[in-house]
Amino acid sequence: MPGALPMLNRIKDKPLLDAVNNPIARWWRARSLARAHAGIDPALWPQAFGALPLLDGLDPGARRRLRDLAALFLQRKALELSRGARADARTCVEIALQASLPILELGLDWYRGWHAVILYPDEFVPAREVIDEDGIVWIDDEPKSGEAWEHGPVILSLADAMAGRERDGYNVVIHELAHKLDMRSGAANGHPPLHAGMSHERWAQAFGDAYDDLCRRADRFAGTAHEPLLDPYAAESPAEFFAVCSEAFFELPHMLIDEYPGVYGQLAAFYRQDPATRLARVEPDLPA
Ligand SMILES: [Zn+2]
Repeated sequence: MPGALPMLNRIKDKPLLDAVNNPIARWWRARSLARAHAGIDPALWPQAFGALPLLDGLDPGARRRLRDLAALFLQRKALELSRGARADARTCVEIALQASLPILELGLDWYRGWHAVILYPDEFVPAREVIDEDGIVWIDDEPKSGEAWEHGPVILSLADAMAGRERDGYNVVIHELAHKLDMRSGAANGHPPLHAGMSHERWAQAFGDAYDDLCRRADRFAGTAHEPLLDPYAAESPAEFFAVCSEAFFELPHMLIDEYPGVYGQLAAFYRQDPATRLARVEPDLPA
């Protein structure tokens, strides 16, 4: 049986009221925030920020907003330990900060409709039947570092979530939460609901062209110096491409700009962030 962490309360998802204009909403928001922070040792925040280089360069206002979002995330989502996983409060804060980064400029409402983040100690094998688009039933026994279920929980391997401390383009927390954002418009397909002023055609064009290019190069240049820098897992499907590009966007934004500037531009408009302006360039590991 998964166990809930004592510091975390399970309460219903509730969209925040318009806290900018409404004094009651402002009071309500302040009270919610105070309650959310009440169970968290304030000393954990600077430690967790310091451990996560993908948060470098956030200005003090953005750090404060991210900290508040992460506290609310921990209050409204149940982090459940399963299969012998062990996580202390600092680990939970690090997971919440990573999970909240994609919605820093969108708001927690984008994660409404689901409640649990299940933490396994390591990679896991779901070993369940899958029916593919041709109606063929097969057993999915691929080891996984995470999963996001439509209308259901997010599952994370703790060992992989902790690898988010490296800025290497791999971040399972952002990957699975990107799937959750994608699922706001139905089954994950790499096309989340876009903001007013964004163009569905431009999104489809930028992502479609880049996905085709990645599939072609991943196939043709596997194991050579011309192999794409983006994780080849992105070639699995347009949904995985969006999730992997989101990892790159927040971890190695300059690499994503070099590879697929159109995708970077669409993600900057979607996430309303521009990580390339706040993060130092890191050269990704090239294939041997
Ligand atoms: Zn995925």
